Amino acid sequence: MIIIFGPPGAGKSMQGQMLAADHDWRWLSTGQLFRDSHDPEVHELMRRGELINDELTNKILANALSHIGDVGNVILDGYPRHVGQAEWLLNHLKEHNQRLDVVVILKVSDQELASRLQTRGRADDNQANIAKRSSDYEIKTKPVLDYLRQAGVIIKEIDGEGSVETVHERLESTVQACLPK
Ligand code: AMP
Repeated sequence: MIIIFGPPGAGKSMQGQMLAADHDWRWLSTGQLFRDSHDPEVHELMRRGELINDELTNKILANALSHIGDVGNVILDGYPRHVGQAEWLLNHLKEHNQRLDVVVILKVSDQELASRLQTRGRADDNQANIAKRSSDYEIKTKPVLDYLRQAGVIIKEIDGEGSVETVHERLESTVQACLPK
């Protein structure tokens, strides 16, 4: 398993999907699972930029992991969002036959993030909600990195700016260097 990490607008989903497509791996995004959900409460929380509760989030992820089959590698995007979720993940990897190989952080300047979020046009990209998601990232999500590092997980950071293709190449070589031979 590879975790793509970074603030809203860093390009996690685009890069995660490209990496998955190149290798026939599976891109697994909790945000996408929620966008595909038929639960009106989930859509209301997403519209407000609020995190969905852990019980539901962990359930939706566990369900996706248990149906994943033999896909070589899973690219996880949008999870874990806080230390409690990181703990859940480490405790449940084994039962889903997964091993966490690397976390790759996409580093993008605040200015570039703001401009990307303005032009992305996703339904939940409005000013109030972007501010909420960005502050959640700073306060709740970033501590996940220290937690995972202390648990022995390899954490790499790459420059997430430049063309989509350039970032893709950086991601590809970073991931390849961290996968077991
Ligand atoms: P994303 O596509 O990762 O930006 O996620 C879109 C929205 O889905 C978020 O703003 C949250 O409302 C919800 N969401 C996605 N992943 C999680 C998660 N790991 N925990 C809680 N809520 C999440």
